[in-house]
Parts: sequence; structure tokens; C-alpha cells
Amino acid sequence: MKPIAKSSKLANVGYDIRGPVLDKARQMEEEGHKIIKLNIGNVAAFGLMPPDEIIQDMMRNLPDAAGYTDSKGLFAPRKAVVHYCQEKQIKGVTIDDVYLGNGASELIAMSMNALLDSGDEVLIPSPDYPLYTAVVSLSGGTPVHYRCDEGSGWMPDLDDMRAKITPNTKALVIINPNNPTGALYPREVLEGIVEIARQHQLIVFADEIYDKTLYDGATHTSIASLADDVLFLTFNGLSKNYRSCGYRSGWMIVSGNKRRAKDYIEGLNMLASMRLCANTPGQLAIQTALGGYQSIKDLVAPGGRLARQRDLAYDLLTQIPGVSVVKPKAALYMFPRLDPKMYPIADDQQFAYELLAEERVLIVQGTGFNWPDPDHFRLVFLPNTDDLTEAVGRIARFLHGYRKR
Ligand code: PLP
Repeated sequence: MKPIAKSSKLANVGYDIRGPVLDKARQMEEEGHKIIKLNIGNVAAFGLMPPDEIIQDMMRNLPDAAGYTDSKGLFAPRKAVVHYCQEKQIKGVTIDDVYLGNGASELIAMSMNALLDSGDEVLIPSPDYPLYTAVVSLSGGTPVHYRCDEGSGWMPDLDDMRAKITPNTKALVIINPNNPTGALYPREVLEGIVEIARQHQLIVFADEIYDKTLYDGATHTSIASLADDVLFLTFNGLSKNYRSCGYRSGWMIVSGNKRRAKDYIEGLNMLASMRLCANTPGQLAIQTALGGYQSIKDLVAPGGRLARQRDLAYDLLTQIPGVSVVKPKAALYMFPRLDPKMYPIADDQQFAYELLAEERVLIVQGTGFNWPDPDHFRLVFLPNTDDLTEAVGRIARFLHGYRKR
């Protein structure tokens, strides 16, 4: 019998957040073990529910949401996104420039598919949110990673970015606020990135899905607000700021030098049509979310649930010998470093397996975020303080044993 093989297009495609270690965790759960899951930013699964008005409006709208919509999406939610652009000072955006999708993920994949030919390179941060590396590969392009520097609070290393540019580089990706590091880029850094994009005529893909999940009173600057002579594609959605991952509702904004991109925009429109439209109930939640009470502010304010959990996870992790962490300024994640002298890890996926098997705690290994060395891992600080204390206590116990091996 001839075996059925997967496509060679998948050769460099991976997504370790839902990878083999999660499969093992599922198997353990089936065997009756209780696992503390620090592996995924699935916000509502931790009891952080969407604003009630979103749920109420979706229920009310459901009977009228059974049909397809325009490929780019319904008028009212796209108009709400245009207003949001005004708030974020992204200029010149009309509803024609707004695309709604089944989460930002679908639009990220669409934007790369419409752009890339074989040999085209895209600069992607390391560490990254691994969807970018995967979709660039799947679209036939080549992901090229630029380094973010832990020593400067995980800021993008602009010299490294410049050094990686070749005649084949078409675009650069920034994730700001960042998953997995929790970094928030100041305006000067964003201006530096715009300058690089301008000089080398690169498209900027800006993932801003955590732009309201900000601690310590921080503010977020959209990179697309800083220039009109560079082409920007900005991604956002309801999954994180509105705790609505399961509603699969996101948007993409095309702004800046659109004149240069007529052909590319035609490609985007064609791919948007081919997938018919984003799910209609998810689209209908956008206007309510953007125009409604911004309850995320209560969660991230000092003393709010997410702020408390961030502080606790940081305090507990930094008490473990040989563990250092840059304290996140935004988002839902930490990317701790394990001192290689104390923890000589050769294979960090194996490390994650062993932590799971011994302590029933699920994290994601750092190399799953295209970080080159096996000396980091990512955890989400979404569990409540009791579960977080228990989980980090178990990690500390595991590391204590690891040192003695
Ligand atoms: N972008 C980043 C940086 C993310 O962390 C995530 C999800 O974790 C996504 C995009 C996916 O967003 P969506 O649920 O809108 O597809």
C-alpha cells in the first residue's frame, strides 16, 4: 500500500504551541491526570469572560447572521475599525482598507499568500509568534529571523534587522505588544523600524492584537501612525483585548503608501473573495466591542486580575536560582531564561516533556518560538493566583531536581 504523505510545502511549518507536547498532555488527561496549562493564551478558558454586552449582542444578532456578507465584511464593523484607526492616529483609512477575518490568523495567512513568490524573504522576529514563520514558509517565501535583545527588554535589534536585508527582502514583521516576551516598543524604536522600511522599500506587517493589554499605565503607538510613505498592514481583533478567542473575529488595515500596492491589494481582494467572508456573528461583535465599555482596563490596572497575576508570576519565577525574566509591559506571556550553566538543556522539547511528566505542568519550549537556543520557555500568566503559585512551585521543584542530575 502506498503511504499517503503530507505536502512538501509543510517541510518548514511548525506550531509548537499546539505541538507534540500538548498531544502528550492530552493523553495524560485521558489517563486521569490533572495538568496545569500554561501553554496557550486562550483567555476565556481561564474564567476571564468577554464583556457581557458582547455576548448579549451576539445572541440578539444571531438570527440575522445566517447569511454570507461582503467578502471584506459588513459595513458597520468596518466603519467601527475606521474610527478605531482615527483614535490610533492611523491616517487615510477608509472602509475599503479594512478586511474582517476569522481571527487575525486568517488575515495574516492571506496577506502572506497574496504577496510571496518563491525566494522572497520576510524578516520575522526571534523569538516570534510562530504563525508568521509557518505562513511565510507555506506561502512559498523564506522566513529570515532578526534577533530581539533580552538585555534591552527584548527590543528588536535594528542592526541585526539591517544586516539581514537582501535584495529579496519584501517585508518585515513586528509584533507589538509582543508575544512571547511581553515587550512594548517605544516610539523611537518604531521610528527606527519605519526608517529601515522606508530605505529598503519594505512592507511593514504590524501585529497589534495586544494593544490594549498594557500594564503600569503604558500607552501603545501604532507603527502605521508614524508614516504615510511606507505600506503597512496592521492586524488586530477581539481574541485578546476582548477575551473572545472562540468568536474568531479579527481585522486587517491597509494603510500608508497604498498607491504603490495596487496589484498587491488586488491579490488581497481576490483571496478575501475566495474565502467568501468571515463568520458573520463574529463580525457583528466588533462594533459592540470597540464602542463598548473597555473592561480590559480594569484587568490590567494595578490590582486588576491580570496585573496581579503578572506580578506574582514574575516574583515567583525570579526567586528560582538561575531563572531570569524580563517583566512584561504588555500581553499575557513571559519568556524566562534558564541559565545554561545551571541547566544544561540540550533539547528544550525534551525538557518540556519531562516537566509535564514529572510535575504535570505544560509550558512551551523557547525553540517553538524560533528562538535558536534551548534556554528559554514561555508561560502564560492567565491562571488565577492559586494555580499560578502551584504551577511555578512545581517548576521550581523540577528545576531543583534538574540541577542535581
Ligand atoms: N497574533 C498574535 C501575536 C497572537 O499571539 C495570536 C494568538 O495568540 C494571534 C495573532 C491569533 O489571533 P486570532 O485569535 O485573532 O487569530
